[in-house]
Amino acid sequence: MLKIKNPATGEVFEEVESTCISDLNFMFENAQKAQKKWKTTSFQERKDILSSFKANLLTKKSECARLITIEMGKPYTQALHEIDETARRVQWFLDHFENFLESRVLGETKGIKEILSWDPHGVVVSISAWNFPYAIASSVFAPALLTGNSVLYKPSEICPLSGIKLREILLESGLPKDLFQTIVGDGSVAQTLLEFPVDGVFFTGSYETGKKIANTIKNRFIPTVFELGGKDPAYVCEDANLEKTIDSLIHGIFYNAGQVCSSVERLYLHEKIYERFLEFFYSRVASLKLGDPMLQDTYIGPLGREGNISFLNQQRENALKKGAYELLSGGASKDEPGFFYKPSVLLNTDHSMSIMKEESFGPIVGIMKVKSDLEAVTLMNDSDYGLTASVFTEDFDRGKIILAHIESGSVYVNSCTHLSPNLPWGGRKHSGLGSTLSLLGIEEFVKPKSWYLPPS
Ligand code: NAD
Repeated sequence: MLKIKNPATGEVFEEVESTCISDLNFMFENAQKAQKKWKTTSFQERKDILSSFKANLLTKKSECARLITIEMGKPYTQALHEIDETARRVQWFLDHFENFLESRVLGETKGIKEILSWDPHGVVVSISAWNFPYAIASSVFAPALLTGNSVLYKPSEICPLSGIKLREILLESGLPKDLFQTIVGDGSVAQTLLEFPVDGVFFTGSYETGKKIANTIKNRFIPTVFELGGKDPAYVCEDANLEKTIDSLIHGIFYNAGQVCSSVERLYLHEKIYERFLEFFYSRVASLKLGDPMLQDTYIGPLGREGNISFLNQQRENALKKGAYELLSGGASKDEPGFFYKPSVLLNTDHSMSIMKEESFGPIVGIMKVKSDLEAVTLMNDSDYGLTASVFTEDFDRGKIILAHIESGSVYVNSCTHLSPNLPWGGRKHSGLGSTLSLLGIEEFVKPKSWYLPPS
């Protein structure tokens, strides 16, 4: 039984039964049968169902957003954005999957026509994180279903109700019931699920869990995508437009209480703008409203995971002990019930501190002063992770030269954190393997078939 806590109050508000092994057996068999039929359906039929899903999701936007807020603490205004973002991703896949899947003649040799087509994998597993319960799920289920797969979806134990709701809306939209099934439970349920002979695994979560999953499915040669954690850096050059830079970074560091895989968690400031940057940055951070996530003007809600408070405390204390100091007083908030953490900005940090090396996943950032672009590049690359990186400068060529040397899946000049369905989303090093979104994020759900045909 999963006890679902509202992180804003710390109280259990619902209990949900975990999926048991006999249910998993049943679900897996049904998913296999349903997929065999589904893969023969027309593109138009799949398109109609997913279009209707998008419309229904938007009709239920406030209900879904409210559920996100209650389950994982994201401020309601940001949860509404998540639903819009989910609809945008689904629409992108609707617009592009058909063209991608069309079989094409790629050549002709000695009169033999050479044609490429694609087959779906079969039953794919999606194991997901809690920080964007709808948006992350949509990067998997939309392309998976549109390309003819069935999906066994294991949402995080923190947000099973959003996972159940997602299925409800898909079924209301006409999706045959066994094509998308929600599995409720924690990591042990996910491990049991992975024992089934599934045809693909799409995982979003931490590096540590990613390693366990990779170990479980090793030697099975099934397609996998790992979207893992980050420790994303930003570098502010001395010529940056400070007002715009700080606007962007406030969002990049503190949106969703810093619980975004691509949150900026390390900040390198050129020494020539260091003092001026901090002066403006201080007042912007101090003005961020922390509190009841249902209120319109709240920017920082509670943390989604209670246990992360002690981890952030350890990181903060480790840094303070080693010589860092705070720009303003952060840390666990004692003023409210629930899992609130005040924005923490640590100065005088260095790479011997956990705050500059290990993913924090909270409203906390370490700042360092640098003397040159070379020093910034060296520090930005001094990480086990490689999800995103950004540079702020008015000299775009300089920004591009710096970023060309950075080992990350996505890089930005004068912005950070965000993503577009047009481009692949994926990490390097401990941040993952493979891509979601974009045409590459469709290709992950199909396997190629090469045809050699006589001339017709
Ligand atoms: P997590 O790794 O704790 O859990 C993720 C999922 O894995 C959950 O559904 C969980 O139940 C399941 N799980 C746990 N143990 C398992 C096991 N042994 N075998 C199989 N499944 C298991 O991560 P989280 O706390 O839910 O999410 C936060 C992490 O996700 C952060 O590291 C964040 O950066 C990352 N994330 C990455 C992206 C991305 O696109 N790269 C997006 C969102 C979150």
